[in-house]
Amino acid sequence: MIKIENITKHFGRFRALNNLSIELNKGECIALIGPNGCGKTTLIKSILGMVLPELGTIKFDGKSIKNDNEYRKHIGYMPQIGRYPENMTIGQVIEMIKGIRNHTNDLDTELYEKFEIEKMLNKKMRTLSGGTTQKVSAVLAFMFQSKVFILDEPTAGLDPISSEILKNKIIDAKNKGCLILITSHLLSELDDLVTQIVFMQEGKLILHENVEILKEKTGEATIAKSIIHLLKTQRA
Ligand code: ADP
Ligand code: MG
Repeated sequence: MIKIENITKHFGRFRALNNLSIELNKGECIALIGPNGCGKTTLIKSILGMVLPELGTIKFDGKSIKNDNEYRKHIGYMPQIGRYPENMTIGQVIEMIKGIRNHTNDLDTELYEKFEIEKMLNKKMRTLSGGTTQKVSAVLAFMFQSKVFILDEPTAGLDPISSEILKNKIIDAKNKGCLILITSHLLSELDDLVTQIVFMQEGKLILHENVEILKEKTGEATIAKSIIHLLKTQRA
């Protein structure tokens, strides 16, 4: 579904992505993990066309994303930090995004209802807590029946109940055959969601493995323990 070949991205002299290749296929829920600054967000933004690697190619359904905008309508994106016009209300922001996406039929309003957004429609974006802003981002990411979801730290700042609602939404999307790419610092949270692990370090792909195989290889029961096991044996 998404095929990335040999992408390299520099910011000035700093190499944020180093000749990285990876294939992301539908029906998978893929956790992108690695230390702060290893290039996770840069990789995500490259897929979205928000960062342009100077080398390599990215294909979406077999077609290069270069000079193409169409593919983006298939992606629901939840940014790590959602930035919205401060003086707009939640309702205005939702209407604005609906207009930009130009997708009025078959909206998915499940999160809108479960997060009880209706009660807050008149609140200005600048008055919202981090968690509420995150809810708005989640509602917008899932509203347009996308086939790919890219979620950058989706549950950061959410209360436990909202976090559970969002996790169930992600599981439903995976079961429908969507591709989900998710980053999270809370590895424990990923156990009931994720089918594959991608581990990055210093802009390079270190590991891309099915969770079941990873657990089998390391003899560990959780993703967190498997990763720690693997890092220890690599260093040894
Ligand atoms: P991660 O999401 O894994 O924490 P990022 O992809 O955000 O890491 O960043 C990777 C590295 O690239 C970091 O060292 C960061 O400072 C640098 N970087 C990211 N975006 C920019 C930018 N627009 N200008 C300069 N440096 C950047
Ligand atoms: Mg990041």
